[in-house]
Amino acid sequence: MIRLVIFDIDGTVLLGDKLAPGAKEMIAFVRKLGIKVAWFTNDAVASRRERVEELGSHGIDVGVDDMFTAAFLSGVYLSEKGLKKVLLISSECRCLEDLACIEITRQLPNAILIGHVSKPPTDQEFELMEKALRNGCPLYVMQKNRFCVSRERTTDVGFFVAGIEFCLGTRSSVIGKPSPFGFRRICRKFEVKASEAIMIGDSLLIDVLPSKRAGLASLWCSQHSSWQTRGVETQEVRLSFKDIRSWLRTQILTS
Ligand SMILES: [Mg+2]
Repeated sequence: MIRLVIFDIDGTVLLGDKLAPGAKEMIAFVRKLGIKVAWFTNDAVASRRERVEELGSHGIDVGVDDMFTAAFLSGVYLSEKGLKKVLLISSECRCLEDLACIEITRQLPNAILIGHVSKPPTDQEFELMEKALRNGCPLYVMQKNRFCVSRERTTDVGFFVAGIEFCLGTRSSVIGKPSPFGFRRICRKFEVKASEAIMIGDSLLIDVLPSKRAGLASLWCSQHSSWQTRGVETQEVRLSFKDIRSWLRTQILTS
């Protein structure tokens, strides 16, 4: 039985600054069935509050506690690991309020966290990262998406993270999607088993396939062309919100 639906935002519910066709009806339908709704975005720039206000401006009511961003989850993850002094490397960050459970510092950090990077780090930032690595700090990244999907495809953090990893001679661990951490954390917050939750997203690589690996069901709701699936072999079928509503109705009737 499905008790929780987790929606991705960008490229799924929102296409740029517009609602995707059928999205509002889809969300109303899910809520009418008494199914809980959560939001999981790999956003590493905006605060949860901003994303809530954005959805609110489209007439979709969301509570801040139901909004999960890569930035927020990074703070939770590091804090729970006891890595509370964090060197943050970010070109743009409006989400410090979501990182309140860790201390952002350049003095003796115990972890490195890469947020949204849209240009190469400065020499000073590289020196700080090299020093922290020498001191045994693990390297984390909020997300490493290949592309940012708004109205047009643009390169995302992954492009720069690959360069940083190459220059530092090490690899990072991702905390946002596709790590299982966020999917499991959201299920725990809503007190549902992974098998009772479903992820609906536009990306095979960070929504659909990893949520399945974490034990959730998932549906691929994408308006994009085939570049997104380059290098991925899949049997998954792209669905519209209308298809998904029919599928959910069948699931509810047969459960
Ligand atoms: Mg997306």
